[in-house]
Amino acid sequence: MLKYRRILLKLSGESLAGDDGYGINAAMLDRYAEEIREARDMGAEIALVIGGGNIFRGVSEAAANMDRVQADYMGMLATVINALAFQDALERKGIYTRLQTAIKMEQMAEPFIRRRAIRHLEKGRVVIFGAGTGNPYFTTDTAASLRAIEIEADVIIKGTRVDGVYDSDPEKNPHAEFFPKISYLDVIRKNLRVMDMTAITLCQENVLPIVVMNMNEKGNFTRLLRGEKVGSLVQ
Ligand code: UDP
Repeated sequence: MLKYRRILLKLSGESLAGDDGYGINAAMLDRYAEEIREARDMGAEIALVIGGGNIFRGVSEAAANMDRVQADYMGMLATVINALAFQDALERKGIYTRLQTAIKMEQMAEPFIRRRAIRHLEKGRVVIFGAGTGNPYFTTDTAASLRAIEIEADVIIKGTRVDGVYDSDPEKNPHAEFFPKISYLDVIRKNLRVMDMTAITLCQENVLPIVVMNMNEKGNFTRLLRGEKVGSLVQ
């Protein structure tokens, strides 16, 4: 019995960069792909949203003098580059995948069609959602919440490099307090950096639980699916 059957996994662009800090690190990609393969082999239906911060971000310094909308489109394209790399890594492991983008790129990917995405999941394919929401001024966290709700996922898992939700950055503050469980409202009230406000609110309004967990710890994903205590639960 799986604790969560249909899952939306959100990975930031930076997580793909590994220690390089930017770009795509092949070893990281392979590791995440392996975690996903194991979870899928357990019977989980997995959809993925990957950020683009390792390549371009609309609010970054590199975009400081740019028109925001123009910069955000560049950010959305960055997520598609990551999505294509991820698709390749998954397929090399024999996993069937489909990439659906919020902005039409029909030579490379299917356009986002909700019913079709659900059908792919039911057939055991990993569905990757690229290009965020397709709209500027949004983030891939919000895209992840939106898609999770649309595909009726049981949970949204935010894979990070820390163990879950803390009251301050555990990589900077060794005394940071860990929250095994926390409400949406407290995340907002305490201004905790789980996901951005739009994304959290969307989850709250649609009663979609969020699990924040360390994606760099081998086996965490499958442990969570088996019902073990992993990460922090926001609900
Ligand atoms: N973006 C956007 N609309 C969306 C999703 C993303 O405009 O719906 C742009 C935005 O510029 C953002 C960039 O794409 O900065 C990369 O996404 P994000 O910062 O969420 O990536 P992550 O932090 O997860 O790597």
